[in-house]
Amino acid sequence: MASSTTVNSEEYRPKHIEERLFINGEFVPSISGKKFDIINPNTEKFAASVYEGGVEDVDVAVEAAKEALPAWSALGAAERGAWLNKLADGIEKNIKEIGYLDAISMGRPYIGDYLAGAAASFLRYFSSKALDVHGESSLNTTGMVNVTFRQPYGVCGAIIPWNVPLLSLVAKVGPALAAGNTLVLKSSERAPLSAIVVARLCKEIGLPKGVLNILSGFGRPCGEAIAKHMDVRKLSFTGSVVTGRAIKKAAADSNLKNVTLELGGKSPLIIFDDADLAKAVPSAAYSILSNSGQACIASSRVYVHSKIADAFLEAMKTTMTKTGQPGDATVAGLREVPRPTSHAKEEGLDIPLGGNRIGSAGYFIEPTIISNAPEDSKVVKEEIFGPVVVINTFADEAEVLKRANDSEYGLYASVFTKDISRAMRFAKALEAGSVGVNCTSPTLAIDMPFGGYKQSGEGRELSKHCLDEWTEIKSVFISL
Ligand code: NAD
Repeated sequence: MASSTTVNSEEYRPKHIEERLFINGEFVPSISGKKFDIINPNTEKFAASVYEGGVEDVDVAVEAAKEALPAWSALGAAERGAWLNKLADGIEKNIKEIGYLDAISMGRPYIGDYLAGAAASFLRYFSSKALDVHGESSLNTTGMVNVTFRQPYGVCGAIIPWNVPLLSLVAKVGPALAAGNTLVLKSSERAPLSAIVVARLCKEIGLPKGVLNILSGFGRPCGEAIAKHMDVRKLSFTGSVVTGRAIKKAAADSNLKNVTLELGGKSPLIIFDDADLAKAVPSAAYSILSNSGQACIASSRVYVHSKIADAFLEAMKTTMTKTGQPGDATVAGLREVPRPTSHAKEEGLDIPLGGNRIGSAGYFIEPTIISNAPEDSKVVKEEIFGPVVVINTFADEAEVLKRANDSEYGLYASVFTKDISRAMRFAKALEAGSVGVNCTSPTLAIDMPFGGYKQSGEGRELSKHCLDEWTEIKSVFISL
């Protein structure tokens, strides 16, 4: 996306940026004393430096979480929920600082107010759901009353990505703690600063020590140590497919801990010739430009009916150019700028819009459209994670459905049509965990499950269903 001079609001810069790890309710340096730098992708300049959690720090954090577990899991659910509400209050009060710190780590514009609002609402939702964690009863066996218990796993791990740091954090902290688990969370090495503010807020509100431990660090050794830890009984991961696979292997090679995975996507968006283009075009453009396309759910494969293909392409070019203006909230850094478009160039594909890096400082790329790419080309098959959309045409319903589903990913899919029967046929047949009808990503809802089919993941976040992912189920047989 285009570079902007207004992306970071310096007035929100805190006087002091905390650098330490948060273990057992205290800020501590890493045992090794090692630190690493965060470089602002907007300026390519130093943004901050933080301590790097290592294997020994993970051990200490897991020990703290173990000690905190009996009291935390025995606490009334409403009390655990009340702590989450306090944390939500703290996030709301510190939105400017959090937004600033994520902006300088991610190179994106300041959007603190929006993000903190969403993050607080996640925590409040799970606070309200804490009391819904319970089992069921059965009188179906003669002479017996059988019941199930829903119980916390115990010490859990969470590993999060850089592209939505705060929301990824609360999507795990909220349900994990509501269900009575204690947690060791590793933030992304690219965007650890907002997680450190959340740690400070835990300290400020007096959250019992060891309930939530937050480590900055790299995938190896820090993330790997959590994934392999014998005392971590469940791990919730959000990130790429490659890392998701490594995490499942680490879990299998250690204690077979329960693993949930929220992974990447290559989401198809199908636009029929009866679609309302006044709605479809801005939705498609926003989907690929929001967060500069650095979104797992971005609609990065558009299939448009051949009858309206020319009109749609022209409208997308105009809208994407307008939306990608400097200073716009969709403008952010892209680290590996030339990669996706150089694939397209190497393969001789049409690039009717953009395709180039902007400027020489900062990781910025023009909003880009690649058109009529073969279905087996890299730009159709692989996640690009930037403001780059592939627009292909189709003529037949069965054919486009097959092409849409011909992917190892299955996170989000959408269809625009005025034909309700067709819309429902697609909602049923699209192989994705979320389907938009006459809307597309980032449309989600806090009370609706979110997660992937196929290699986009396993398990669900958000909604009441995600609490099941953070609890064991036990059958209890009572003889009368
Ligand atoms: P990534 O997989 O490179 O890193 C994610 C996290 O895993 C980081 O904290 C990293 O340090 C850690 N990690 C790396 N190697 C590890 C290892 N061997 N063991 C344990 N931890 C390890 O992903 P990223 O670049 O931070 O994020 C972008 C990816 O995340 C994209 O593929 C995107 O689609 C996906 N994502 C998915 C969702 C979703 O909800 N489905 C949401 C956001 C991002």
